[in-house]
Amino acid sequence: MDLRSGLRQVLDGKTARVLAEELGLHTVGDLLHHYPRRYQERDELTDLSALRIGDHVTFFAEVHRVSDRQLRPKLHKTDVVVSDGRRPVTLTFFKRYKEGRLRPGRRAYFSGTVGEFNGARQLRNPDFQLVDDEAGQVAAEFQGGLMAIYPATAKLSTFTVRRSVRLALDQLDPLADPLPGDLRRRHRLVDVMTALHDVHQPASSSAAYVAQHRLKWDEALALQVTLAQRRLAAGDPATPRPVRAGRLLDAFDDRLPFVLTGGQQEVGALLTEELAGRRPLHRLLQGEVGSGKTVVALRAMLQVIDAGGQAALLAPTEVLAAQHARSLRDLLGPLARAGELDAADRSTRIALLTGSQSARARRTALLQIASGEAGIAIGTHALLQNVVQFCDLGLVVIDEQHRFGVEQRDTLRAKATSPPHVLIMTATPIPRTVAMTVYGDLDTSSLRELPAGRQPITSTVVPARERPAWLDRGWERVTEEAGKGHQAFVVCPRITAADEPAPDEPAPDEPAHGESDDGDRGDGGQGRRPPMAVEDVYPLLRDGPLADLRLGMLHGRLPPEDKDAVMQRFAAGDIDVLVATTVIEVGVDVPNATVMVVLDADRFGVSQLHQLRGRIGRGSAPGLCLLVTDAPPGTPARKRLDAVAQSNDGFALARLDLEQRREGDVLGAAQSGTRRQLRLLSLLRDEKLITEAREEATALVATDPALAGQPALAAAVAGLVADEQAEYLDKA
Ligand code: ADP
Ligand code: MG
Repeated sequence: MDLRSGLRQVLDGKTARVLAEELGLHTVGDLLHHYPRRYQERDELTDLSALRIGDHVTFFAEVHRVSDRQLRPKLHKTDVVVSDGRRPVTLTFFKRYKEGRLRPGRRAYFSGTVGEFNGARQLRNPDFQLVDDEAGQVAAEFQGGLMAIYPATAKLSTFTVRRSVRLALDQLDPLADPLPGDLRRRHRLVDVMTALHDVHQPASSSAAYVAQHRLKWDEALALQVTLAQRRLAAGDPATPRPVRAGRLLDAFDDRLPFVLTGGQQEVGALLTEELAGRRPLHRLLQGEVGSGKTVVALRAMLQVIDAGGQAALLAPTEVLAAQHARSLRDLLGPLARAGELDAADRSTRIALLTGSQSARARRTALLQIASGEAGIAIGTHALLQNVVQFCDLGLVVIDEQHRFGVEQRDTLRAKATSPPHVLIMTATPIPRTVAMTVYGDLDTSSLRELPAGRQPITSTVVPARERPAWLDRGWERVTEEAGKGHQAFVVCPRITAADEPAPDEPAPDEPAHGESDDGDRGDGGQGRRPPMAVEDVYPLLRDGPLADLRLGMLHGRLPPEDKDAVMQRFAAGDIDVLVATTVIEVGVDVPNATVMVVLDADRFGVSQLHQLRGRIGRGSAPGLCLLVTDAPPGTPARKRLDAVAQSNDGFALARLDLEQRREGDVLGAAQSGTRRQLRLLSLLRDEKLITEAREEATALVATDPALAGQPALAAAVAGLVADEQAEYLDKA
């Protein structure tokens, strides 16, 4: 039996099916990498005060009292009261429950969903596993003293998982260790068989720790090896695109209405040099919101066009692609009107390609891109399609990378004859470990400085429930700003109240539903009113506090033409207040907007709020951001908002975000393939390990790129890549 063996070979068919359906576990390897969520000491009764209604829980308790009743001829009810020594909880069994094995004094693990009956907490038909036998002897499988508690679901108890893991471990043949022996010795790691055994059936908590540490290395090394291989592969020579004096770039610099910041100049010089080389530019440009990344990217594109190539700019949404097209056309003026009457001498064209444009517009764009007439192609995912052919693609610029996966980057790169240069821009500052993990194949640069003359943004938390007058005052402020000719955003978490978040909206960081086995839950809770929705808020404001202003509405479900029209009217100043979802989060640039009101602000993540707030204070007038919330003072949700209100430092907020979110969420939707691989590894706590793994991986790949000498590691890496691809195909 090895890790690739199907679970049907080790388990009975029913259990194998449930494991597949409930947890997506198909092979012995899947199961053995389904690690315990935590460990529980055998003799410690669980504190039952922590059980909350609605949670799926596993706890250890002692039976207090048992009462049997025949309700109807065929309906039998047994109430079993268990306790942690202080507090009782009632378990109700509606079927014959294992012939009275639960008797006062016996101790067992119970697993089920906490409900309520007559005002008291109750579990119906929970699963249970007795710890001691009739004679009071501890059963063999609990001798270890530590009980592994697994992520489980209502249909699949932690006991079933535990039992299945036991069976799989018993039948597993010795494995070749994916971690090279000398690496294990250097970092004092246990071998793979010991690790798998001890992570599931530890004799002590230190054994569990040592096992987890070793298994984290498996995750970190496989990931870093793929990145090292990618770095190596990206080293195939690119076509150099050196600066050509007296062409587009020079003409552009001459008409630029402002002076580049020190940071823009510095990064610009670096890009200029890298574009001129044979080693492809492969860089992540991080920059605070509003730091002026677009101009930096545009200058790089112009250098490439001057050298005979084309550039592609990939944006995550249609709104943003259209806006990029508009703002690049504005910045370039006559330089982007080749073939038209008022074109400048040296000029090019910008082609916009989106999924929703008319067949005719699309054909024109495709033609301009294929013929090379368009030096710049801007688009959404539509740019990735097969029909899109470039004449000579030299530079790929990806805006707001966190929405794109590695595969999508590769698809676009494959459209060039020799590897193109790649520049990725993100406004979400990325903590170092995340950068090393998710963007580990890229060099990085940062723009920390904002252009001179930027006005500060004042942010305030508005507690709508405690101080409704503050919110009224907020709407007055919106009206006053409009009176001065400025504009405002009102942001809501949803489109309609009943909605799930729309696909183009990043999901607010509500905790994932499903198992919450150890009672950890976000502050979402139940019984909350649904989140504020654009379609409800818009008429309320229009007929209420903002009746005198011109309102517009923008969200992902509007037809693309409408979206674009609304954005254009807002940009032109024909709309005072835009009521929108987070479609505006990324990159929308209307310098005249000065106020942002975020409703139900606690439904958004920290970085997301910072990003949203970056939509104001872009012009010469100071900005005001109101974070409206019902979250009571002192709650985690409220503290998060206070932190956002108090800091304007994107890097500090990103760190806070990482601390507060569930680990996996940090990687973003596009990286979920990677996320599944990071089961034990923590991007927050394991910085040292990740750094060491990166060094080891780089050295390994440098001497043996295909890992010919490390077949077990090569197999682990192949598994990871296959997972990522499966994920990508799922979504495509
Ligand atoms: P981001 O980095 O958030 O993408 P943008 O590139 O959209 O920022 O730039 C924000 C605004 O600042 C744009 O209107 C842009 O034209 C302007 N801008 C960029 N660089 C400078 C500069 N050096 N001085 C003044 N304004 C600038
Ligand atoms: Mg931008």
